[in-house]
Amino acid sequence: MTDCLFCKIVSGEIPASKVFENDSVLGFKDINPVAPIHLLFIPKVHVENFVEACDHEGLIEEVFQGISSYLSQNDLSEDHFRVVSNKGERAGQSVFHLHFHLIGNRSLSWPPG
Ligand code: AMP
Ligand code: ZN
Repeated sequence: MTDCLFCKIVSGEIPASKVFENDSVLGFKDINPVAPIHLLFIPKVHVENFVEACDHEGLIEEVFQGISSYLSQNDLSEDHFRVVSNKGERAGQSVFHLHFHLIGNRSLSWPPG
């Protein structure tokens, strides 16, 4: 998608602080972190949200495997963290390319606002 911020990060047109990359998944630091660890994991292909992603077999799993690899590579698997994807504006989605927030290294309240 030509006008998608995260597609531009995938193509390198817009810089990002990358923390993880494989053939299908990119992980990078959120530009406006809400916790000491605040990363975004995205599929390299453009899908708008969680529902659209579910039409692409294996895509969600690839992203989750990427998160899991990142966690084990950084000895974070035993830590406390939250993985969340906002779907739709009223749920807080502001970038319409599927992404999972990985938020951690501080106490997190529940339920979210
Ligand atoms: P959401 O509001 O759930 O769609 O999450 C989008 C996230 O993307 C927000 O937490 C933003 O801070 C983050 N964000 C926006 N632009 C950039 C960027 N250029 N690089 C990294 N993160 C970004
Ligand atoms: Zn995109």
